Formats: sequence, C-alpha cells, structure tokens
Amino acid sequence: MNTYDIIIVGAGPGGSIAAKNAAEMGLKTVFFERGRKPGEKNSSGCGLGPRMWKDFEIMKELTPEKCPSMRAGAASRNYFVNKEDIVAGYIMARPTESVSYEPAKSWITMNVYRSEFDPWLAEFATDAGAELKTSTLIVDLIKENGKVCGVIDEKGEKYEASIVIGADGVISTVAMKSGLRTKWAQNQVTLVPQYDFQAPPEKIDDIMGDEALGVWWGATFPASYQVFFRDGFHQGLGNWMSWWDKNPLFYLNKVVNLKYYQRLLKILEAKPRELQAHLLPWLDYPYNTYTDGVILIGDAGGFPCPLEAEGIYPAMITGKISAQIAAEAIASGDVSKAVLHKFDEEWQKTSIGEEFEAGYELWNIWKALPFSPKETMSWFVPMIMEVLGGIFDWSQPHALRIRQIASHVKSYMPKATPFIMKYVIPLVAKTFEDDLDKLMDPKKIMTILPKLLELLPQKKRKRGGKEK
Ligand SMILES: Cc1cc2nc3c(=O)[nH]c(=O)nc-3n(C[C@H](O)[C@H](O)[C@H](O)COP(=O)(O)OP(=O)(O)OC[C@H]3O[C@@H](n4cnc5c(N)ncnc54)[C@H](O)[C@@H]3O)c2cc1C
Repeated sequence: MNTYDIIIVGAGPGGSIAAKNAAEMGLKTVFFERGRKPGEKNSSGCGLGPRMWKDFEIMKELTPEKCPSMRAGAASRNYFVNKEDIVAGYIMARPTESVSYEPAKSWITMNVYRSEFDPWLAEFATDAGAELKTSTLIVDLIKENGKVCGVIDEKGEKYEASIVIGADGVISTVAMKSGLRTKWAQNQVTLVPQYDFQAPPEKIDDIMGDEALGVWWGATFPASYQVFFRDGFHQGLGNWMSWWDKNPLFYLNKVVNLKYYQRLLKILEAKPRELQAHLLPWLDYPYNTYTDGVILIGDAGGFPCPLEAEGIYPAMITGKISAQIAAEAIASGDVSKAVLHKFDEEWQKTSIGEEFEAGYELWNIWKALPFSPKETMSWFVPMIMEVLGGIFDWSQPHALRIRQIASHVKSYMPKATPFIMKYVIPLVAKTFEDDLDKLMDPKKIMTILPKLLELLPQKKRKRGGKEK
C-alpha cells in the first residue's frame, strides 16, 4: 500500500493547483493523470481570462517561451447570422471605459493550447514536492466503514490517504464512486464539437490584428465561438444534451460553411488540423461537492461559469480552496463531511461564489438566447441589426427611415417583451438585489420625479426648431 496525506485524481488546472497548494503546506501529496502528460486528454486549446492573473501570481510567469501557442488579444468580434445563414452584421468590441482591472484594459484573453499550458501548471506542483503519476487511470475508491480512504488504479495498485480530491473532470470517477453523483442530468452537461484549424501566424496577425475571440450568434445554430492562438484557431459550438435534434456536427458545419466563414478561411490560409468533441458541465449552481474524505473541484464539481462556461479559473480557485480545507481537516484529525462543509462556505466567498449568486438567472438567459436559435435568435438577429444597421439606407429621407426602423422594431415587441420580462428583468433584479430597495424607495422617486418632469419640453416646438 502507498500512503499519502492527500490524493488528487486528475492533473488538469484544478488538480495541479490543488497539488501545488497541498505540497506547499507540507502534505505528502500525489496527483494522478490518465494521459501520458497533463493536457493530453483535454480540449486542445482555450482562452484564459485576466481574473487568473489577478488571483494567481504564477500566471505572471507564463510567457511565449513557456507556451509558444500563446496569443493575447484585446478585441472580440460578434457576428450576427440570420435565418438565411447570412452574416447580417458584426460588432467588434474592445475593453470599455468601465473596465477596472488595469491589465484587462489591454487584453481580454490570453489564448493557449492545453498541451503546453497544463504541463506548465503541473510543474509548479511537482516543484513544490507533489508526486505526479502519469499514464495512471484511477478506476475505483477504497472505502473503510463506508468512508473513502484511497484510490485504486487500473492495474489494481492501491493508494491510501486521509482525503481524496476529485479533479478528474466532467466524467468524474471520484464523484460517481463516492456516491456524490451518478451522472449529470441532460440539462447540466453540454456536448462541444470543435475544429482546430492551422494557419500561418503572420496571416493571423495581419488579418485579425489584436482580435482574440469571435462569437457567431446564429439563428440556425447555437452560438459558436472562435479562439485565436499563435498558429491556429478553434471553431466550436455546444448545447445541453437535451437540445440536440441532429448530429452536433451538422450545426458546426453550418458555421464553417457560411460564405463569410469560407472567405475567412481562404484569406487566413487555414486548414483543418483536428476535429474534437468534449463534454462540459454547465450548471446554474454546483451541488454535492463534498462528503466524508472527498472534495470535488473544477469540472468534477460542476464549477464552470453559469453564463459562458469558462472553467479553468473556477477549477484553479476550487483547487486552491480544497487544498486549504483538506490541510485544516487533516490537522484536526477530522475529515468528515461536517468539517469538509467548509469547502462550500469558502468558494462561495470568492469571485466564483459571487458569479453563482445569479447563477440561475445567468444560466437561464443563455439557454433562452444563444442556445435557442430557432425560438429566439431568429427574431433577435434581425431586430438587433435593424437597430444597428437600419440607418444605412439611402432610398428614403432620414426622418422617414428613423420612423420605419422604430415601427419595425416595434413589430418585434410581442416577442421581445415577454423575453425581457421572463429573462432580463429577473437578471437585473438579481444583479441589483442589494440596491433594489433604494431604487424603489418612494421618497427618492418623489425627489427625482419633479426634476425629470422639468426636463420635458414645456412648449410644442414649431417645425424648423424656432419657438412660437
Ligand atoms: C471545447 C471546450 C472549450 C473550452 N474552452 C474554455 C476556455 O476557453 N476557457 C476556459 O476557462 N474554459 C474552457 N473550457 C472549460 C475547461 O476546459 C474546463 O472547465 C477545465 O479544463 C476544468 O479543469 P479541471 O481541472 O476541473 O478538469 P480537466 O481540465 O478536465 O482535467 C481533468 C484531468 O483529469 C484526468 N482524468 C480524468 N479521469 C481520470 C481518472 N479516472 N484517472 C486519472 N486521471 C483522470 C483527465 O485526463 C484530465 O487531465 C472549455 C471546455 C471545452 C470542452
């Protein structure tokens, strides 16, 4: 029997940060990876958000020398694709004036391939003294009196520890074998197919400039994302398992076959390098994340962001907290569920806890908008383009155009109003929950109202702008 203080199953971002922190606190730590190296089994690339640099000092050590695929970008492009599969318009956006974290003013994501990023991260853990066992698939848990106290690999080798951290991703053996979960419900897990395209770095830079991401908002496919790396890019899309009525590739190919997209591929000299398909948990709130001797972190615990399923940062945050809680529990000699409950309390105090406070509303609006192409995006795309692009018509006087646009936008109101009431208002109410009573304070309204009324024109203006 191999004995440790703490066992971590999985060497993704969550597992590596848990292992690093546990080893730094002096715990005898081992972390297991079924792949030949960390990152081998993951989606090939991803975008890392500035929050990671804010909360993890080590991120400042990530350089192109360590991670050659790295590409930072300051802009994102949102394409709107209508029912006829035509790109009806797009918006390119850069960080706006209200962005408060200084580095986030100059880049929105740092894009990297996981085959470089995950091993880089795991090295911090091994440098801190954690033992990494690669090519080792954990297939079961050891239990004593019904309580977890170790793991068994596929060769039957046993490893014992006071605490097991499940950092083993979306299909978590630790979650299932500990009894914390059987499997995800159909509306808790998404299937994400994606193409990885190869393209010459100089082409990407020349044509995309400092753009890092693209989102293709479709009326005939669920929103599709595009992430640019140094020498290639990803095009992928997903939806909950409950949604698909056709093979998911059918929808992804719709994006790639758009005339606009084909032109982009041509000018970027892009060639498909790989087709991948991954599962990704997407919950409105994580649940059942701990029991006697077990904590689940990252994807295993259902921690990706409820709005857009950014999952690396939550995996790292929960990894760090799990190590802290495990160390305290081991030191106290009590690793029971009652003590490990503190894991929930601690992550709820972090930035991801704050995110999940409005988890249901965020998750719900995503479901109703980009994940409902036929029901919502089919009217949303022409409506938004009417507002953004309607004025570009020189066949009528401008004043008439404005009236035509307003009247046309009004025709969408029977669809837009229930949508706003059902999805937007609850999100706004949740987000401003603490200030809502102030906004609704009758005394405050009574002081503001007369001022607003003063602003209204008192006299009817004559055409030509002169007063009577
Ligand atoms: C297509 C796609 C694109 C994404 N893009 C982004 C993005 O741009 N930005 C972002 O922040 N997030 C993104 N995500 C989400 C992100 O990939 C995950 O949320 C994140 O990787 C979770 O980290 P983790 O450490 O919890 O799990 P994982 O990264 O999944 O790591 C789990 C590790 O455990 C290993 N493992 C599993 N089972 C066992 C076992 N039984 N024994 C031993 N080892 C095991 C796996 O091989 C793996 O290395 C994306 C996800 C997908 C599917």
